[in-house]
Parts: sequence; C-alpha cells; structure tokens
Amino acid sequence: MIGGDEARAWIASFVEAFRAQRGELDELDRRSGDGDFGSNLLPAIEGSADAAAGLGPGRCFTTLGRAFMAAGGTSGPIFGVWLRELGRAGGDAEQLDLAAIASGCSAGLEAVRALGGASVGDKTMIDALDPAASALAQAAEHGEDLGTALDAAAAAARAGAQSTAGLLARRGRASYVGEASRGVEDPGAVAVALFFEAHP
Ligand code: ADP
Ligand code: MG
Repeated sequence: MIGGDEARAWIASFVEAFRAQRGELDELDRRSGDGDFGSNLLPAIEGSADAAAGLGPGRCFTTLGRAFMAAGGTSGPIFGVWLRELGRAGGDAEQLDLAAIASGCSAGLEAVRALGGASVGDKTMIDALDPAASALAQAAEHGEDLGTALDAAAAAARAGAQSTAGLLARRGRASYVGEASRGVEDPGAVAVALFFEAHP
C-alpha cells in the first residue's frame, strides 16, 4: 500500500532522478524539438514533495500534477492531466492499493489521449504510459503484490521509452524535424520511465 509518506518519497525520488537527468532530457529534446524539456519542468516540480507534506497519497499526486500544469509547454499540462487522474483515483483514501493505482494510470492514459490525440507509435510519452498502464492492469488482474506490479510497470515504461528511438515523431514539435528525430528517445517517455522507476 502507498500512504502519504510513501507517495512523498516516490515524488522526491522522481524529482531527484529528473534533476540528475535534466541535461540528458534537454539534449533529447534538443535533438527532436527545442531543448527545453528538462529545464522547463524541473523548477516547476522541485518543491512538490514538500508542498505535499501532510497530504494523503491521492492528494500528493494531485499536487505534483498541479506543479506540472504550472510549468506550461506541451508536456507540463500533459503530465498534469495524467497525475490528476492518478490523484483522483486515490481520492481521500489514506492508502492506495494496486487496484487504485492501476485504474488511475488507465484513466490518466485516456485523459492524455483525449488531450493530445496521440496513439502508441507516435513517439510521445504515450509510448511509455500505455505499456505501464497495461502492466499494472495485468498485475492487478493476477493478484500480484504492489511492489512487483510497480517493478513491472517501470520495466514496461522503460522498454516503451527505448522503443521510441526507432520511431518517427507524428506529434508535437518533434514531428517538425522529420528523420532527424530517428534514433533519439522521446524525452517525455523517458520521464515516464523515471517516474515509475522511482516508486517506493
Ligand atoms: P514543447 O517544447 O514543444 O512545448 P516539451 O518540451 O514541453 O514540448 O515536451 C515535449 C514532450 O511532449 C515530448 O517528448 C512528448 O513526450 C510530449 N508530447 C508532445 N506532443 C504530445 C501529444 N500530442 N500527446 C502526448 N505527449 C505529447
Ligand atoms: Mg521542448
């Protein structure tokens, strides 16, 4: 189960990983877009774990989502709506179980699809969000424990992010650079992998 303390630890680890990778994330975006991905988002999310002090787990994710929202750009609001759904699935409960996390991630994926219109294979963060949501849904169906399920989601998100290197972008700024984005992983998908890998 994920309580408020675990959710804050998760967010803090994610922000730490994001900070450590900021240069790489900017570089991926530079090769396929405008180079602002990490530098734009990091300052917005840096204080999120502290801002979530005392909150239940659902509200912690909502807090991180609001921070992303405030960052603007293309990816800020997209991460924002995804986390809003994860937070909503948690509601005011003191603990999140696998069923809540799995349904929040599925609802988040649908919200991102509705907002940005991208599908798997378009070389966006959907290429990591979709397999992660599927891994969680499958784990929930098989009655696996939460830690195993989140490990599976992280592995699926990472594999999805790696798969984007072979794709040609059909959405966002990366779609303007054509073949130049071939061989470059999508920074949004990499950030999704960082999120799941940071789970407590
Ligand atoms: P920009 O600089 O163009 O405003 P960002 O650098 O903030 O964009 O974010 C780029 C990321 O946004 C990409 O790596 C991709 O994962 C994601 N993205 C772009 N368009 C979409 C979309 N339509 N749906 C989902 N994600 C998208
Ligand atoms: Mg950019």
